[in-house]
Amino acid sequence: MSETADVVVIGGGVQGASLAFHLASRGTRVIVVERATVAAGATGRSSGLVRVYYDLLAEARLAATAHEWFRDWEARVGGDCGFTRTGFLWIEPGDAEARVRANVASHRALGVDSTVVDAAAMRELAPGLAIADDEVAAWEPGSGYADPSMTAGSLIRAARERGATLRQGASVTAIRVTGGRVDGVDTTKGSIDAPVVVNAAGGWAKEVAALAGLEIPLTVWRHDTGYLGVPASVPRPIPVVIDIANEMYFRPEGTELVLVGLEDDNQMGGSPDRDTASAAPTFRDRAAERIVRRVPGLIDGTFRTAHSGQDGLSTPDQRPMLGPAGPDGFYLDCGHSGTGFKTAPAVGLGMAELILDGAATSVDIAPFAFTRFAAGRVLEGEHGGAPVWR
Ligand SMILES: Cc1cc2nc3c(=O)[nH]c(=O)nc-3n(C[C@H](O)[C@H](O)[C@H](O)COP(=O)(O)OP(=O)(O)OC[C@H]3O[C@@H](n4cnc5c(N)ncnc54)[C@H](O)[C@@H]3O)c2cc1C
Repeated sequence: MSETADVVVIGGGVQGASLAFHLASRGTRVIVVERATVAAGATGRSSGLVRVYYDLLAEARLAATAHEWFRDWEARVGGDCGFTRTGFLWIEPGDAEARVRANVASHRALGVDSTVVDAAAMRELAPGLAIADDEVAAWEPGSGYADPSMTAGSLIRAARERGATLRQGASVTAIRVTGGRVDGVDTTKGSIDAPVVVNAAGGWAKEVAALAGLEIPLTVWRHDTGYLGVPASVPRPIPVVIDIANEMYFRPEGTELVLVGLEDDNQMGGSPDRDTASAAPTFRDRAAERIVRRVPGLIDGTFRTAHSGQDGLSTPDQRPMLGPAGPDGFYLDCGHSGTGFKTAPAVGLGMAELILDGAATSVDIAPFAFTRFAAGRVLEGEHGGAPVWR
């Protein structure tokens, strides 16, 4: 005999967990089907950066709304998301100053605490960093990082307290469609009848969409990260940094470590089922050389460990796909393109409103509709800037 639900969410990453939380908070009977365990995919490997600075205002809006949730987690969700406020610098070469100023102005108009800072101010904020005289940055004092596994776990726990069901170790093997609408899923642990099915399957979202007869422009994006021990001689504090000139980001992990990731040489394509236990053989040297350029004191640092992670990347524009697509009752919450941790609390809120009310009203997710591709529209930053990942 089948179980029944109002909504089946495929995937127990941070996006599926957030959606389940928001749906359950509104009294919806939701079942999350996760083939492994909560946060087993991109979420468990995420670097957890929480900032608002985006070149696309629609994404900055989602990040700004989500930021309020991270800051107020215990009251809104309960439990802990591990949010650590360190401040955030988005550093660009001086010739990008006009773009940085325009983006910061639009973020300030959203109520975000963000300012443009010059090299002298950066040296005060982050004394361990080597800054060229003509560099410029956006500075968000309220931003930082959170713990992605704790965040997803906390959302799932809160969803279950509100009546949601979690099926771990269960793979969705079929999405049933009758007369052009979904009516449930088959899993390796039984069938579920439901009029709404959401694809929140991260790097597996292309395969899951195909189960509903839908082709989506998504590839697997593979991204290595490493952890270095920071010697006592390196001046603190070290904020979260995205460093455009060096195609790199880094952040503190507690007080003794920094986490580093590179924006270039990320492998595109391949199977989402590949092992992610190791980083590419060249990653350690490349990351070490890159971070020492920006934090010279790390020449005496120790490379502790490195591993990889994979997310679903939307190939036309590296922006998420959110909303209905394919048969009636089928929704996408995928294509988060290596930046979908920080937005999850807001995306889940908007997706729940879209599913239950027919439109998202608390946040605007309409720009991310799947229909944009058929209309030949890709999302680009209002003031220029290239897609982040190569
Ligand atoms: C190394 C790395 C660093 C990152 N750093 C940041 C960052 O600093 N800030 C930021 O905002 N974002 C970051 N991201 C991106 C962010 O982590 C992801 O966008 C986000 O975690 C995606 O969440 P998700 O729930 O969509 O996918 P996932 O976490 O991948 O979850 C999808 C789940 O679906 C399950 N699944 C797949 N197929 C099936 C099936 N058939 N049946 C049932 N279950 C299925 C999988 O097991 C998986 O658990 C990073 C990503 C990576 C990989």
